[in-house]
Amino acid sequence: MPACHTDTPLGATTRRAPVLARSIHYRIDPGNRDARMRESAAWRWGPDAEAEGLRSGRADVKAVALLEPRRFEIQDRPVPTPEPGEVLIRVAAVGICGSDLHAYHGNQPFVTYPRVLGHELAGRIAGLGAGVVAFAMGDRVCVDLVINCGKCYPCRIGRPNCCVSIRVMGVHVDGGFAEYVTAPVGRVYKLPDELPDDQAAMVETLTIGCQAVARGEVAAGETVAVIGAGPIGLVAMLAAKARGAKVLVSDLLDRRLELATSLGADAVVNSGRESLGDGVARFTDGEGANVVVEAVGAVAAVEAAIEVVSAAGRVVLLGLGSKPVPIIPTTLIRKELDVRASRMNSRRFPEAIALAAKLTGPLGAMITHRLPLTSAPEAFSMLSASPESACKVVLKP
Ligand SMILES: [Zn+2]
Ligand SMILES: [Zn+2]
Repeated sequence: MPACHTDTPLGATTRRAPVLARSIHYRIDPGNRDARMRESAAWRWGPDAEAEGLRSGRADVKAVALLEPRRFEIQDRPVPTPEPGEVLIRVAAVGICGSDLHAYHGNQPFVTYPRVLGHELAGRIAGLGAGVVAFAMGDRVCVDLVINCGKCYPCRIGRPNCCVSIRVMGVHVDGGFAEYVTAPVGRVYKLPDELPDDQAAMVETLTIGCQAVARGEVAAGETVAVIGAGPIGLVAMLAAKARGAKVLVSDLLDRRLELATSLGADAVVNSGRESLGDGVARFTDGEGANVVVEAVGAVAAVEAAIEVVSAAGRVVLLGLGSKPVPIIPTTLIRKELDVRASRMNSRRFPEAIALAAKLTGPLGAMITHRLPLTSAPEAFSMLSASPESACKVVLKP
């Protein structure tokens, strides 16, 4: 296991160096002087890029690419150029998600290789593409990973996370395991000062919880059972608590359940020692949980979710399971269950940022490792060998 280090959050920059223009000759026909002049005014370096010497000749920046399952390469790449309507971001912190781990093992169904992973990122604006006025150099931001077409049926009904032409940073296009990334302004959100960079990288994680409880229509006073106390299960618990629900969390690992309790779970069940059905019955006076969030993806966990949910309840599927689950229609009909999937997030960043600003204690407690970006290969080895040894791992480019 690599050594862990803790460090002071980078915080908001106070540097405000003069904005300098840069010509991008390689993107333009060299004979087109007018176009070159337009382009040179089109985007600008910010103080972070200046400080790191990018303009004065340091052409390459670090990125960690997953060439194929289990094979990372630390690469030097040209600094990305923000297109019109995009910003350049100096990444300050990027989290490792369970889906990144699936990609590492070759069983993330949506990812293509080679790929720079990383979709849980926070950083500072380091360059502005043409026409960008909503951000200033040095603004602290995080990025919504979902880039959608805006035209298909899911997009038209306000569900961009289900877009049929979806592109996801760190999955279909390169993501945040890098010193610099570009992103469309519409997917970039400013961060409040009270949220440190490493916790800001977890805003995306929190959107998963917000999306899951929205899909489950969790209401104040309802009972919720969350199966799985990894980072995703824990943020689902936090999001359900924020809606005023009573939440039970189950897992096989006592260590994770202790963390769930310290973060505010109302009850925990080690389903290796006690039946989840008994634990939920005790927690709900025999009614069953009104909403069950399944954050494991195992066949037995999905079956348990359908068993322990109350009549007229909702089951929300979050775990990326790939094995068939036998379903008895009569069971669903008898309870008139809604079984709903929840994928990433549907424009939940504003809600998640506001929630994260109130949850800096719990989010900080979930971060067990802070490592340099170039330690990504070792971090993935550690997470593969002993997943119970870590909750959230945050890399610092
Ligand atoms: Zn994720
Ligand atoms: Zn679409």
